[in-house]
Amino acid sequence: MKEVLVLGAGYAGLKTVRNLQKESGDFHITLVDMNDYHYEATELHEVAAGSQPKDKITYPIRDVLNDKKVTFLQDEVTKIDPANKLVSVKKNGSLHYDYVVVALGFCSETFGIKGAQENALQMVDIDTAEAIHQHIIAMMKKYKETKDKNYLKLLICGAGFTGIELAGAFVDERKKYAQIAGVDESEIEIICVEAATRILPMFDDEMAQYGVNLIKKLGVNLMTGCMIKEIRPGQVVYAKGKDDPEEHVVEAATIVWTTGVSGSPVIGESGFEQRRGRVMVKPNLTAPDYDDVYIIGDVSALMDSASNRPFPTTAQIATRMGAHVATNLAHQLKGEATEDFDFKSLGTVASVGNTHAFGVVGTKKIKGYPASFVKKAIMNKSLVDIGGLKELLAKGRFDLYH
Ligand code: NAD
Repeated sequence: MKEVLVLGAGYAGLKTVRNLQKESGDFHITLVDMNDYHYEATELHEVAAGSQPKDKITYPIRDVLNDKKVTFLQDEVTKIDPANKLVSVKKNGSLHYDYVVVALGFCSETFGIKGAQENALQMVDIDTAEAIHQHIIAMMKKYKETKDKNYLKLLICGAGFTGIELAGAFVDERKKYAQIAGVDESEIEIICVEAATRILPMFDDEMAQYGVNLIKKLGVNLMTGCMIKEIRPGQVVYAKGKDDPEEHVVEAATIVWTTGVSGSPVIGESGFEQRRGRVMVKPNLTAPDYDDVYIIGDVSALMDSASNRPFPTTAQIATRMGAHVATNLAHQLKGEATEDFDFKSLGTVASVGNTHAFGVVGTKKIKGYPASFVKKAIMNKSLVDIGGLKELLAKGRFDLYH
């Protein structure tokens, strides 16, 4: 019997297993993840802000597995040895495979900026997202005791999609924070410090400006053209442009780091040729030198021939890659040829709080309240795609239909 090892139960890995477990044949799947739950990584900002409890965006992995076909192993992957078809895991030693699917996801990218890891809060998984919320509550309580206004400041480093979505969620929850601190909600300051002067590069000027205007209208202080150089406890140090010799400082008791992501460090540890934890995969999604190693989701890079740049890492492409790998594995297990992955993005939508969003779906620009419905529909689609109908009924965003 052939052994298929799937590493990571995020969008890419779990989708692979969900589809492959429906196939018949003489094979067994082992799914490895360090957590026993799947979480919706695209919704972490809601847990960080306190808009959603963590169980609204998580579900037990075992709930969606066919235990006749799949064994789940809760363990941490430390290294892949493709030459010997082995994977090292922390508690259970090493695991042999005939085929492996590497879907180990992202980690925060600090670009080596001093103090970023130690003095800023990261938002990379459920625990770190929850820690941000707990931290904010603690800071609001401290304000009550000290009346130091820095405790009312929430500062986000980077205004990519993650930073903007987090800022929007903070806006939604501002009233609750203010109540804890005993102040008016206008006293809660939400700041976003961003290096670029023109944000949201994936959108045209009009749509990017719409996004900027929207978050400013909601009261977010968007500081563009401010390159972060260092994070000190309670302080963000930045330069205004490349040649600015001066040291500018903005203070805040809550500092969250969202300046981008890289693929899991296991990729580098395993000796794959990579850039920022991402391996440039072949069109059928296998690693350059190994037809039995698939690399998908945030640890992969795949060229988009239209833009001549790798596709951005999103939940959408990760899910589609997972489905494709299940198809290719089914082929390989039957001794058939694999197919090349063909991806066309359905669109990109950023939510700004619960009732605003903006983006592009197909060729159509969508904005404002209607866009937030589209975003919730995308979220529900992901729950059905990966978790199935049961998870949608339990966790779906049904305000969509109100
Ligand atoms: P990102 O790389 O897209 O954005 C990071 C931002 O931080 C950039 O604007 C960058 O200029 C800024 N930055 C970097 N270094 C800086 C510094 N030293 N000082 C100040 N600013 C700095 O990262 P992200 O927002 O985490 O997104 C990661 C990926 O996930 C992207 O592909 C994104 O499209 C995707 N994503 C998609 C959605 C969605 O579809 N709704 C939501 C979140 C993330």
